[in-house]
Amino acid sequence: MMNKINVAIDGPAGAGKSTVAKAVAARLQYMYIDTGAMYRALTWKALNTRTNVKEESKLVELLANTSIIMDKYGQGNVYADNDNVTEAIRSEAVTANVSDVAMHPQVRKQMVLQQRQLAAENGAVLDGRDIGTVVLPNAELKIFLQASVEIRASRRHQEHLDNGLPSDLEFIKKDIERRDKIDSSREASPLLKAEDAVEIDSSNKSIAEVTDIICRIAEERIQSHDHI
Ligand code: C5P
Repeated sequence: MMNKINVAIDGPAGAGKSTVAKAVAARLQYMYIDTGAMYRALTWKALNTRTNVKEESKLVELLANTSIIMDKYGQGNVYADNDNVTEAIRSEAVTANVSDVAMHPQVRKQMVLQQRQLAAENGAVLDGRDIGTVVLPNAELKIFLQASVEIRASRRHQEHLDNGLPSDLEFIKKDIERRDKIDSSREASPLLKAEDAVEIDSSNKSIAEVTDIICRIAEERIQSHDHI
């Protein structure tokens, strides 16, 4: 009997979490849960309804009245109520506001509950900032994915160019530094490496290499999990 595990992947913006998490999930035939997309979907909804992102209680109310649905297999479309927001949540406006939305403790509390529910039956790869520390402190495998800010910015820049989007490398670098700062210094579950997380620096590694490393450790954990 093959038991399923949960894989938590945390790290700063642009370290390659989502690309790698998707690849790991596909290889293990697990679902992929992009928790950043959930904060982004709420941010999109807030901007769309002119809800002030600094007002925690308004955001909590908005979240309670919004159903954020994600395709957990394959490419992962994201819906906020009836709107397919898969592309809209990657906009500059959403990216510029999402860390302000995500810093509110009561917003995080609700998001964490939803995320735990999604992963309740195991067999999930989740990426975010607080998966190994707060969302799933008992995850069988925790990865902390790092990369230098220069590398992270140039990857995002390339991604934009590949998608035919306008892009300014210096702006991206500043925005990544700004988000890292908010994410790492906020009171409520800041970006932190869990004590028992395996740290991987992806600066000089390809996506395939990082994916291989994680899958190898995951297979080991799945086997030892089977013997429990
Ligand atoms: O991963 P992504 O860049 O899409 O995340 C967008 C933002 O959402 C992050 O900068 C962070 O502020 C927030 N976030 C978070 N906790 C998570 C996932 C994302 O605070 N688990």
